[in-house]
Amino acid sequence: MKTLILGNVYGSQQSTGGFYENYPGFPDGIQGIELSERMLEQAQKFGAEYQAEVAEKAVHLGDIFRVKTENWEYECKSLILVTGASHRKLGVPGETEFTTRGVSYCVHCDGALFRKKNVAVIGYGNGAARAVLYLSNICNRVHLITSRDKLVAEAVYLQRIKDLSNFVATFGAEVTAIKGDETVGSVEFLVANTPRSVKVDGVFVEMGMKPNTELAQSLGLELTQGGFIRVNRLNQETSMPGVFAAGDVTGGRMQVATAVGSGASAAISALQYLVK
Ligand SMILES: Cc1cc2nc3c(=O)[nH]c(=O)nc-3n(C[C@H](O)[C@H](O)[C@H](O)COP(=O)(O)OP(=O)(O)OC[C@H]3O[C@@H](n4cnc5c(N)ncnc54)[C@H](O)[C@@H]3O)c2cc1C
Repeated sequence: MKTLILGNVYGSQQSTGGFYENYPGFPDGIQGIELSERMLEQAQKFGAEYQAEVAEKAVHLGDIFRVKTENWEYECKSLILVTGASHRKLGVPGETEFTTRGVSYCVHCDGALFRKKNVAVIGYGNGAARAVLYLSNICNRVHLITSRDKLVAEAVYLQRIKDLSNFVATFGAEVTAIKGDETVGSVEFLVANTPRSVKVDGVFVEMGMKPNTELAQSLGLELTQGGFIRVNRLNQETSMPGVFAAGDVTGGRMQVATAVGSGASAAISALQYLVK
């Protein structure tokens, strides 16, 4: 089949996720960017074409789908949506203003900019735990600010965090603002309605992910209550014949191994759809 891959592989979670230690076949781990480049190289070796363009809209026209990008329009007989997920924002004053000036959503991309400085990680779960562990190796002090009453994450992360000497945590905190001058200077928050503030040079937001469903919505696909693309888990079919979806945009266990598995299943289903 003639296959076109649209999107920017370097902008994916997979590429920006840092070092992957749990993807099968790499016992010593692998950097996300290298994994993405290898996957792309393998797909291209078998004839897939790649265009680093963002698909802005997709429409269903009889037997075909038309996909519009910023530069071009493509037509195809079947579509596989693997648009992943994006970082959830905090939604407080200062967050947007200081993005790229101290506020970041990617420790592996920006952590090194805060060498020997003080940083805050705002969020919860495995994302926050991993961010704390990564930054504690680089920064002077890492302050976790979380709305939860404890950090819930994989046991191995919690064990490693317990041994850190440059880590502090504030639980039950509601962040109200990120302040600064040219760059980030502090985080303001409430604990039991008492205003508090911590001086930091950088803020890493780890509030989880939201699925990128704009294309799915432009096609009118059914979504789940959580906002993910609804699929039949047996074959990755969406609510529209000829359109399949896989990976994080469909929810479930959001991992590279599961994204690859569901992607393979979607590709086989698309093939069967096209040859029937
Ligand atoms: C910091 C971090 C650490 C992680 N650590 C691990 C780990 O250790 N192990 C693990 O298994 N998983 C880990 N994950 C999760 C893992 O990276 C994801 O589950 C996986 O990458 C999902 O793959 P995906 O293809 O569904 O989405 P993504 O990797 O997000 O790829 C989606 C792609 O779609 C593109 N796209 C989106 N919209 C459009 C559009 N309109 N047009 C064209 N292209 C579009 C994006 O640019 C991107 O390239 C981590 C994630 C993060 C953020």
